[in-house]
Parts: sequence; C-alpha cells; structure tokens
Amino acid sequence: AVIRLADYRPPAWTVEHVDLAFDLGIDRSEVLATLDLVRQADEPIRLNGEGLELLELHVDGRRLVEGEYILANGVLEVGVEGDRCTLVTRVALRPAENTAFEGLYLSGSRDKGFLLTQCEAEGFRHITYYPDRPDVLAKYTVTLRADKARFPVLLAGGNPDGAGDLPDGRHWARFVDPHPKPSYLFALVAGRLERISQDYTTADGRKVDLHIWAEADVIDRCDYAMDSLVRSMRWDEQAYGRNYDLDVFHVVATHDFNMGAMENKGLNIFNAKYLLADPDSSTDDEYRHVEAVVAHEYFHNWSGNRVTCRDWFQLSLKEGLTVFREQSFSADMNSAPLKRIEDVALLRRAQFPEDAGPLSHPVRPSQYSEINNFYTATVYEKGAELVRMIAGHLGHDGFRKGMDLYFERHDGEAATIEDYLKALGDANGVDLSAYLAWYGQAGTPRLSAEGRYEADKHRYRLLLRQRTPASAGQPNKQALPVPVRLSLFDANGRAMPLRLEGESAADAGERTVVLTQAEQAFVFEDIASAPVASLLRGFSAPVVLECEYAPAELALLLRHDADGFNRWDAGQQLAGLAYDEYRDGKPEGAAVVAWASALAGLFHDASIDDALLAELLTPPGEIELVERQAERDPERIRAIRRGMLRALAKAIGIDALKARYAALREAASDGLDAASQSRRQLKRRLLDLIALVDASGAVALAGAQYSDAPSMTDRLAALTTLAVTDAAAGEQPLAHFRQRYDGNALALDKWFAAQAQLPGDAALARVQALEDDPAFTLKNPNRVQALLGTFARANPTGFHRADGAAYRWLGDRLVAIDALNPQVAARVATAFNGWKRLEATRREAAHAVVAELAARKDLSRDLTDILARVALG
Ligand code: ZN
Repeated sequence: AVIRLADYRPPAWTVEHVDLAFDLGIDRSEVLATLDLVRQADEPIRLNGEGLELLELHVDGRRLVEGEYILANGVLEVGVEGDRCTLVTRVALRPAENTAFEGLYLSGSRDKGFLLTQCEAEGFRHITYYPDRPDVLAKYTVTLRADKARFPVLLAGGNPDGAGDLPDGRHWARFVDPHPKPSYLFALVAGRLERISQDYTTADGRKVDLHIWAEADVIDRCDYAMDSLVRSMRWDEQAYGRNYDLDVFHVVATHDFNMGAMENKGLNIFNAKYLLADPDSSTDDEYRHVEAVVAHEYFHNWSGNRVTCRDWFQLSLKEGLTVFREQSFSADMNSAPLKRIEDVALLRRAQFPEDAGPLSHPVRPSQYSEINNFYTATVYEKGAELVRMIAGHLGHDGFRKGMDLYFERHDGEAATIEDYLKALGDANGVDLSAYLAWYGQAGTPRLSAEGRYEADKHRYRLLLRQRTPASAGQPNKQALPVPVRLSLFDANGRAMPLRLEGESAADAGERTVVLTQAEQAFVFEDIASAPVASLLRGFSAPVVLECEYAPAELALLLRHDADGFNRWDAGQQLAGLAYDEYRDGKPEGAAVVAWASALAGLFHDASIDDALLAELLTPPGEIELVERQAERDPERIRAIRRGMLRALAKAIGIDALKARYAALREAASDGLDAASQSRRQLKRRLLDLIALVDASGAVALAGAQYSDAPSMTDRLAALTTLAVTDAAAGEQPLAHFRQRYDGNALALDKWFAAQAQLPGDAALARVQALEDDPAFTLKNPNRVQALLGTFARANPTGFHRADGAAYRWLGDRLVAIDALNPQVAARVATAFNGWKRLEATRREAAHAVVAELAARKDLSRDLTDILARVALG
C-alpha cells in the first residue's frame, strides 16, 4: 500500500492519556493498555497493532467478544457511541523471537541480555494497539513489573513515580511523563545494567539527574558520552535558549540496534557504537561521532519531541533541523572548517549518489510504501543543508528569533515544514515560502557559473544558471532560490571590495547573491583586474557547481582562499581536473602539475593545520569519482586515482614525506586534544602516500606504528596500511588484533570492516572466510554493516568484480538477513543503487540479481520496496 502526503487527514480519535502496565519476561511479556480516547470525527476507533496476541478488549468497562470488533490487516476497529471512551487491551508479546529489533526485543543473550524497545517510526504498534501516528500526542503513565533478580533495573521515559517489591521475587517501578508525546517516543529498558551518574542544573534552575546505562563490561567506557551530554545541554541553553524539561535523563547503550540512536523522551537509547569511547578501542573519528550523536539525540528533545512531526512526510522537520543543530554544535566544539569539509564530503559521498539514481526522493517525500526506508541521507543531510541555507538567509540573530518563535508557537504540537518556514519568516517579517520548493523537488541542482571581465569598464559580469535533472515522477523542475556566497580574488590572492551595479557602497570582500531565476547575471563594478571567483563559499547551497576554471585559477584559490572550506574545495575541483587528464592519457597535463605542485608548496606551509593538510592531500574518493566516468569501472577509477596520488607523493618527495612522518611520530601521544588528533590524521595520510612510492618502506613504518601505537587511531591506521600494501605483512598483525580484541564487539567490527575494504577480486573470498569466524553473525546489525555493508558500499573494486560473483553472493545474503531483520536488509540492498551506470558486463550481472530478487514474493516490505525502486535503474 502506498501512503501519500496528499491524503493526510487528522486523526478521528485522539488519546488524552495512556496507562501502560508491563509484565516483562524474555519469552513472553504482557501489556495492559488503558487509553482515554476523545472523538474528533464521526468514525469508528481504529488502532494499529502488528504481531500482537490479543487477550482481552474492554470498552468503558465492558469486555467485547469476537464480532464486536474487527481485527484485520494490522488494524483493530471498534465502533462506539459518544465522544469519549476508555479502551483497555491486554496483549502478549514474544521479545526473544523479535529479531527485527522493532518494538520490544532482547539485546544480547537469553541469560545475560536485557529488554528494550525501539518505536520510531512504527514500532509502538508491535507493543500495543494504538493510533500509532505522530500527530496523536498523549500523556503517558508506565508501570513495569518483572523478576527482580533477572531485571534489577527498570526504566521508562518520564519522571520516576514510585517503585517497590512484589511477592515471588518480583518488583515494580512507575514513570509519569508530564509532556504529551507521540507513541514513537515511548521507550522502556529492563535488565542488568550498570550506570554512571552526574548532577546537572539547567540554566532555568532545574536539577536533573543524568544517568548513562550500559552492561557491566563496558560501563567504564561511558565517561566521554557523559561529558558530551553535559556540553550538549549547555550549548542548547546558550545557542537556542532551550532547557531540559524532566528531572531525570537516561541514556542506554546496546549492541543490538538498527540505527545510530533514538531520542525517546527522557530515555535515549544508543547503538553502543555511538556511545562507548576509550582510547584503546575507539578512533578519533569515533570520539567525534559519539559527541555528535549524543548531542543530536539530546537536541531532539526540542527539535522533535517538544515540537514533533504531523506525519512521517515531515521527517526532515526534525531530522534535517537536528542534524543542522548537531553540526553547529560540533563546529563550535572542534574546528569549524574541518567540520564543514567533513559534512560536505559526506553529502557528496552519500547523498548526491542517492539523489542521482532510482532511490532519489525529495527532502519531503510525497509518498512511501515503507517509511523506514526514508531515514536517508536526503532527509537527514540534505535536509540539514536546507536549514543551513535558510539560516544563512536570515543571519545569525534572525535565525535565532525565528527558532524562538517556532518553538514557542508549536510547543506541544505536531508541525509541518510549512509551519517551520512560516514561523522563521514571521519572526523576521519575511516570506520564506520560496524555499518550500527545495523540500518538494528531488535531485541535485547543477549551478553553472560563467564570469566575464570587461577590462575597459572595470566590470565583472557573473552569469549564473541552474538546472535540476529530471527524476522519477518529476520530469520538469522549477528554479529554486540558490544563495551563492562569493568573493573575488585578484592575481595576488587578495579579496576585492564588492559593489553590485546600482549600489552606492562596496561591501567587504565577501557577499551573498541569491539566484532565484533559471538564469541571472550579477555585475560587479570597480573591479580593477580580472578576478578569480571563489563561489559557494562554505558550500552555501547543496548544488553541483559547474564552472570552467583554469587549473591556475584553482591553484590560486587553493593557496589563498581564506574560506577553509573553499580552499579545500578548490583542491577537490583541481584534483577532479587532474583525474580527467589521467583518464584521457595525459598524466603530465596542466591540472596534474598544478594540483601536485600547489600541494607540494602547501606541504611546507607551517601555517596550515595538520588535519587540514591531510584533507587537502586527499582527492575525491573512488565513489565520488564515478561521476567523472561515463561508465563506471571501479578498477580503472582506482588505478587512475592511485596514479594521481603517486604523482603527488613524488612532487612532495619521498624524503620530505618520511621526514614529516618521523616528526609527527616523535610528537605522538594518546591525547584527545585537537593538535594530537590532527597529527594522527596527517600521519595516517602520509603513511598511505609513502606506501604508493615505497611499499617496503611503508610496511616497515606501519609495522613499527602498529606495535607501539598508543591508541586505536594509530593502531588501526597502521593495520589498514599493512593489509592493503602487503597482504603477507598484514596477516600477523590482523591475527594479533583479532586476539587482542576478542570480546570487544566494537573493536572487532573494525577488524571485520578493515578486511572488507581490501581492494580487488580477492576481497570476496576474504569476506566469505570471515563469515565463518565464530564472532560473525547475521543477527547483529553492527556486525552485518561492518562486514557486508562495508564490502558492498565502501569497497568498489571488491564488490563490483567483473564476474558478478559478489552481486550473487550479496543477493543470497540479503534473503537470509531479510528473514531476520528487514530494516537491515533494506539498508544493505541500497548497495545495488546505481547498477545502471556500471560498464556493460557488471551492469548485466548486477541487474540479473536485482531483477531476480525483485520478482520474489516472499521478502519483507522494506526490502521489496528498495528492490522495486532500484530495479527501475
Ligand atoms: Zn535524529
């Protein structure tokens, strides 16, 4: 069944209050639900419920017998008279059999594991009969009862409201949440868990107990998350004036989770991957991810919970906005330009391909058949770019005013994207409705820029054009408002004062012009010499820029642009041109030389931060470079990219690379300060460059680095370089790592992922052998992602081997995973996106697998939906 935005109707019955009483057990749990329902329309009560065993149903105290209600297709329908009623159901669930990790399920083993819930988007209907839609907001009272020895810790969202013992070794605990919430924010946790705690006082004076819970073996790895939580809470007070609103805040870590984490009211639940951190098992990147995800889920308390979504089409209202808030927080905590580089690189790597293929959809989709398949890079990352664009339009203070009004106007409500734009606009007396088109239109706009310098008139004329390629269901695209932040540089790399035709005074060296038509010219006056334009500074709009720069112009920006992002991006564009020359058989072309020599110069520039230098020394990845090939042949892309990198290594010089590496190694520490992290990042980059020109030298360096690495970052980098550079040299450290981290799930995931990335035809056999490792299981989403997900989505030469063997193998695995966990299967299956642009042999092999799977009738709705769309090509 297809659900359409255009068909939205408000709920016929709402819930004023819900009382839930759980009798928890691993094999069988019972849920007694009491719903106080209020009529809104002349229709029967319809409650969602999936996989529930209905034991009892009462309306206003009277038990209904079969025939007095209809139970079909996941809906319980009851006709009642009057405008209010109290409806009671008692149902039974089987948590240990729930391998889909949606609803109430068991994390870990039957004897040691714990029970928990995941409800977003539609998991609550797996727990009880309920109008499971986000525009039904109710107050919750939750009572948990369970065996005290087996489930010593009982948690649910809201404030604690009593606890005590029961006969037969059982106990109970009650929680009351004063804030009305939609069902997707409900959560409970029960089992043997340890905690760390901290007191926190909000800016408006509320004392809050913060608790982070995890299993005993990992509780000592939660301190960084606690620090991150405190920083997030302070930041939201300062940046947005938002305070926390309950007396307790719980965060729980689990190894069994489909997604990153979940913002359940007062009880956030995290994939352990985004909560645990310690130097021995976490890389620097992972520390930053923990900080960002802790912040993300906390920020949802306002952008998502206090103001929620009217329906799932509005998902980006909370996700795009919360990713933007999270990005701003991370930029404040760390280096802002590096954060911007990281975010845009992710957008290009994950969202652009999604938007260019059959899975393309608008940030606000207009229809879906399985909402779980819309937790995408488009809704999250492109959604965040849209918020950033609008925030840029309003300016810092205007955006804050708009956000204040949005929160004030819609607190306690389920809102829409229109409501959001209206509040931001109203607070500033402007009309933002033109931006709505960005939310409804799929595909990445192409922005072409053409500059012409009129020397006689001292004018620079910039012609901007936009065009969005057609996508499924959207043959004709409209023009969007595209803010282009820009500077003009003179030949010495100095930014010129900017005065647009018709204006009286010149701005400083940067300004934003907004392209609102398909085509528009902007004329700058008093431009003394032919400038080089730095466009889309800070990546001011999520578009592909098409501008015919000469290599020397990009090299100038790479050397002088004060905007750290654009400096890096000039290097990326220049590397793209260098790639084209390599591809076309010109390894000594102008772009190759300009790129390598500019970077060789910057290599010795002491004013450049080590991490930025590492980023500058990294050309677009194999996945992004696909765009530069008419037909993709991953082997060829990899060979060309390596050729370029070799040219770069030679331009810098092997001795200079090794000397710098040695100096960084000298300064090594396990500190988490920015300088130490930057050094590790550059060290890793240098090791890879050295490996391209002196493999045996690199193996020696990496071997030493592996043995005495003070932290996981250095250890994993060395291990990866060893395994990629010399398979034989990699074996012993791989075996050592496997043993050293036996029992450390997150470290083992890295071990699986590192090998899943080994390039070329040999990768498949390696991955298949790893499936036999006793630590491998298809039941754990992180493990599946580490091995199968990494192989299929981050190892182009391994997955796309020409004989199609990896496609057929993955097809088999998808069927097996789907039987356990449809959400995970659907996610892994997106690896087949883009099959149509592969070169012919691969294309046919991939298509055969996709078509065969798509024709099956026994797969989940999640996987079927992805396959059906991917099959369209
Ligand atoms: Zn989120």
